[in-house]
Amino acid sequence: MGLGDMPSILGFRCTISDVRVRNAIEYVLTRIRERQRDDFKRLRRKVRGFHWLPKEEAQNGTLGHWKRVPITKAFQLETEREAKALLRQEYPCRLHPPPKHVRHLADALRQEEHRRPGKVHLCRELTDAPEFRLLSTIAHELGHAATTQEDFEKRDSALGGDSEWASESCADYYAYRWGFGRQVRRCQRTRRVGHHGGLPGDVIQIAGPTGKSLKYRVTRNFYYRRVEPGEID
Ligand SMILES: [Zn+2]
Repeated sequence: MGLGDMPSILGFRCTISDVRVRNAIEYVLTRIRERQRDDFKRLRRKVRGFHWLPKEEAQNGTLGHWKRVPITKAFQLETEREAKALLRQEYPCRLHPPPKHVRHLADALRQEEHRRPGKVHLCRELTDAPEFRLLSTIAHELGHAATTQEDFEKRDSALGGDSEWASESCADYYAYRWGFGRQVRRCQRTRRVGHHGGLPGDVIQIAGPTGKSLKYRVTRNFYYRRVEPGEID
């Protein structure tokens, strides 16, 4: 059986043949479908498949990666179609919306990279990883896939534009929402906080604009809230 013939998992393409990893993917997807049907539908639209992480990208302990597809002509055209449809809703009486507006809106939508589909890449090391790490990695990468522009912007602005932490917070937020908080927390001990940021309840020090470090507490929904001086030590 060639790789292309590998059966899909709940409608998702998967070229990984390892049975344990496939079962874990199915377990995570089933739970998402049961708990958050809308998230599952969004993932069906955005996730083009599960694949092994290419060897050259498997470094620095990377266990998984959400890789967006490059913008294609087809995606661009689809975006423009949606932009025109949006404009028609906004200006229902106008048969021909002004072309300048269409271009403007199409540009705005194209920049919205959180709408772009992609692939989940998993590191081959996961075949021997403990179950919590396997489940947590799959849930986290799907969390990146599920992240909307709005999820990202709300956390990014709270962090003053630290986009790496904002994006990691969104991914972990979804993993928690789908019921994989325990597994994510168990992984946290071996994750790099500098890359991933904190988990709910954690207090984290971040250098403020003046260089003085400020304390933030991570909320249940993965927002960073400033801890006032004197509130804790
Ligand atoms: Zn991540």
